[in-house]
Amino acid sequence: MSPVSLAQTPAAPAAPVKTARARDAHVAKQLESVRPKSSPVGDNDDLVLTTYPEDSQPIPLAWGAAAPQTRGPVVASHYRDGLVKHNSIGAHSGQYCVYHALAVGSKQLDPNHVADYTNSQPAFSVPEQKSWYNKTDIVAMDPLGHLTPYLFDEASKSENVDIRPTIAITKATMQLLELKDAVDNNRLRVDGRVVLNSSGDVSVSKVAVEPVWYLPGVAERFGVSENELRRALFKDTNGMYPELITRPDIKVFLPPIGGLTVYIFGDPAFVSDPSKKLALRVHDECNGSDVFGSDICTCRPYLMFGIEEAVKEAQNGGSGVVIYFRKEGRALGEVTKYLVYNARKRGGDTADEYFHRTECIAGVRDMRFQQLMPDVLKWLGITKIDRMLSMSNMKHDAIVEQGIPIIERIPIPDELVPPDSRVEIDAKINAGYFTNGKIMNQDELKNVQGRTWNDVV
Ligand SMILES: [Zn+2]
Repeated sequence: MSPVSLAQTPAAPAAPVKTARARDAHVAKQLESVRPKSSPVGDNDDLVLTTYPEDSQPIPLAWGAAAPQTRGPVVASHYRDGLVKHNSIGAHSGQYCVYHALAVGSKQLDPNHVADYTNSQPAFSVPEQKSWYNKTDIVAMDPLGHLTPYLFDEASKSENVDIRPTIAITKATMQLLELKDAVDNNRLRVDGRVVLNSSGDVSVSKVAVEPVWYLPGVAERFGVSENELRRALFKDTNGMYPELITRPDIKVFLPPIGGLTVYIFGDPAFVSDPSKKLALRVHDECNGSDVFGSDICTCRPYLMFGIEEAVKEAQNGGSGVVIYFRKEGRALGEVTKYLVYNARKRGGDTADEYFHRTECIAGVRDMRFQQLMPDVLKWLGITKIDRMLSMSNMKHDAIVEQGIPIIERIPIPDELVPPDSRVEIDAKINAGYFTNGKIMNQDELKNVQGRTWNDVV
């Protein structure tokens, strides 16, 4: 790929910031909010509540264009000349954007800091895919996000804007007690390549991805219009992003949500090779179980089983991939999750009431919305999944709907299900999760009972 030249970009109009500021009264009215005459946070001379298309000259960004040169960079930062040249709504780094603001606000970070990316380039290469240059295959991440400092360095300098990577690629060694147990019990063998030693240390290639949404494509996945999506995002975040309304010409949004991490076992080049077998687990975050070992759900046991099977596939000449999405507690968050735990434990925790307890508090049983999940599979060049280490019907359907066939589905083995999590897994199976075993009816679910507070206190 050759460097992108954006020398053709028209110069910004003179003093557009002033024009934008003059429109603030109109903005306040439009947003049904009140702008104080004197700002309670002090001098507001440098504040612009929002921008309008007439006030700016965004750096061209053509999502899905056939080459990096014609696609252009994602530019979000308002610093340096970014206010008039940004082509994306929102801020970099997902939810961590607020910590960036704190670092600037507390005067520990110069907001105009110019990053030095020396030696930070990918530790292995992900083969370029046709899907990177397609408007519909990838709508929830920037397919060029790992190449940004190299493709767009010149543009960053000549345009005086901050163009940041949204993907980083590295390598590591993984140490998990479950993998040591697998070696000790001869379920995994030491090969010095994937499983490095008798302690069960495993070699892994990793990719961290921050979310970047192409709004027309995201709207299409959810079956709503782009306008409906913009209004929902604006209103439901209490007006956090006015440009969702004032900048219909800007089509890309960096949402303040968690990203994902890809863990690849074996040769990364095999992932997109259709002649090699692929084992895949797509895992949604559950901090209480994944990290802290709670026994009320199957999350960590299924994650560890997924890693072990992925390692086996790599040792057998194929490849294994585990993708970890930051969608804590079905994307309802830990506070809602713990409230639900309490309601379950005080209500005589039975499988027939499992989803109802969540619905009572959250209004829905799940907010993970798997529609955007397959994008990373397309980005990796995955064309089929030989062994899917997941029972979720939602993940299965989302992947198949995006045109990636799943050949075999592997449920969590019964012996890995902790006793107190039968409530969860049996309720999920009744609701459509894949199983090779028994599907209980509603009456039978009443007899599947978890621990109550009386049992633990
Ligand atoms: Zn869990």
